[in-house]
Amino acid sequence: MDSINRRTVLGAGAAALAGAATASSAEAQPGPKAIFSVAQATIPIAGSNEVFPVRRIYCIGRNYAAHAIERGSDPNREPPFFFQKPTDAIQVVDIGTVGEHSYPSLTKNYHHEVELVAALKSGGTNIPTEKALDCVYGYTVGLDMTRRDLQNEMSALKKPWEIGKSFDHAAVLGPLQPASKTGHFTKGAISLAVNGTVRQNSDLEKMIWSVAEQISKLSEAFELKAGDIIYSGTPENVGPVVKGDVLLCKLDGLPDMSIKIV
Ligand code: MN
Repeated sequence: MDSINRRTVLGAGAAALAGAATASSAEAQPGPKAIFSVAQATIPIAGSNEVFPVRRIYCIGRNYAAHAIERGSDPNREPPFFFQKPTDAIQVVDIGTVGEHSYPSLTKNYHHEVELVAALKSGGTNIPTEKALDCVYGYTVGLDMTRRDLQNEMSALKKPWEIGKSFDHAAVLGPLQPASKTGHFTKGAISLAVNGTVRQNSDLEKMIWSVAEQISKLSEAFELKAGDIIYSGTPENVGPVVKGDVLLCKLDGLPDMSIKIV
């Protein structure tokens, strides 16, 4: 046993003893102490006082043929590609409210992308498609907000386009709805309106890769774990928003989600 393993084992034993007396408060745990605390990103669970702790945010790119074409790719079944957003980019918008969403820095072409979001309660590697939905805890509607001008500039330079996707508040979503109540989503209308005018309007059955297939493919590249969430791609007609715009996202079987750009 190396020293790190010994310390872990001893630490766990001491924590168990301490836990009996102190209801396992974090302060009772011996060992190195964090010099400050960092917030754990969470998503409320609708109709409950429990929250879903977020481990990683994955997003799939160009998962509807018509959007793939508008972004300049071949809509045929190319392997899916994925990117991540930082977990502290999450902005939760409560049901029945209009969340105030700050127009971000640097961009002059800020785009909406409405998407179905799946949240995982378990994971693994090389998960077969037939077993993939067993990993899903629940679903919500999300916005993969995008600084399109920055994404395009970086893409043209063959540099990573993280700055276009992975910035503060770029992962907007509503409270999670447990799949035990909603079932799984393989079809159903998905839409986004800006100031009452519908801009994006499609059906989940037009996804090139289903949620189950996305989980299976992702798990070939990364070990998936409980707490991972997946933005499942946006349909065509992404476009710009400006300060004052009100966005309304709808997905059949889930509550609406709305933000105002401020
Ligand atoms: Mn997207």
